Amino acid sequence: MVVIGGGIAGVSCVYHLAKAGLDVTLLEKGELTSGSTHHAAGLVTQFNPSPTMMRFRRYSVELYRELGVFDTFGSLRMASSEESLAELRTLLDELSQRDYRRVVAASQREGLRLLKRAGIEPAKIGGVAPSLLPFIIGSPDLLFRNVFLAKWKIDAKARSSMNDDLIAGRRTEVDYLNGELVALAERLGMDAPINRRIVELVRLAERGVDPWGPGTLRRKVLGR
Ligand SMILES: Cc1cc2nc3c(=O)[nH]c(=O)nc-3n(C[C@H](O)[C@H](O)[C@H](O)COP(=O)(O)OP(=O)(O)OC[C@H]3O[C@@H](n4cnc5c(N)ncnc54)[C@H](O)[C@@H]3O)c2cc1C
Repeated sequence: MVVIGGGIAGVSCVYHLAKAGLDVTLLEKGELTSGSTHHAAGLVTQFNPSPTMMRFRRYSVELYRELGVFDTFGSLRMASSEESLAELRTLLDELSQRDYRRVVAASQREGLRLLKRAGIEPAKIGGVAPSLLPFIIGSPDLLFRNVFLAKWKIDAKARSSMNDDLIAGRRTEVDYLNGELVALAERLGMDAPINRRIVELVRLAERGVDPWGPGTLRRKVLGR
């Protein structure tokens, strides 16, 4: 077997093919890694909206560590648009945006209607009656930040597990959350347009579509 080009891609192919027991020859027209690879900054940050890129990077870090050629020292990210900022948000940042909260409140309202129709009593979480949650979540910024956020004390570094899944390139748990409500609506012969839309958008994000900022997400889910 012959691999042409001794950049990171060719060398990686040769390494893995040889490891798998194949007899491989590498042809390089100049020096090894004299192409783009020579100029790379060597960044393998664990932060990328594309699941494929995340898998590449995670595996690269594991392999470089295994080969003893790599030390991690962290990185600093700056966002230059609403979309790239969405990738960096913590749970607290997300909850501080009323447009995000309006989407969550609308999906809760829809969910509560479905549960009521199905005769299911939702459990009380954090001392708040479930029927009040959409009002609290959807309340204006001033009220939400100064009254509810101050009381709930959310860890400043906490991130939503779904955001973590998307960043890590994993399949999210959306089927067990909003997807459950869509399935319940179907069983009841009803519709759950808001939760259905959220599931569709999460599916797109799983396939690597860039995340949406708060305003865009609100328009995409609520249509206004
Ligand atoms: C300034 C800069 C910074 C970058 N920083 C990063 C970074 O921080 N993180 C990151 O992940 N990526 C980074 N990249 C991107 C990364 O460098 C490239 O994606 C990667 O090196 C591409 O590797 P490659 O093996 O496909 O190509 P190359 O490295 O270009 O390798 C191709 C090889 O093929 C050889 N070749 C071509 N034609 C023939 C032929 N006919 N016969 C034999 N040999 C041939 C060339 O001589 C060359 O050695 C950066 C790129 C640049 C330019």
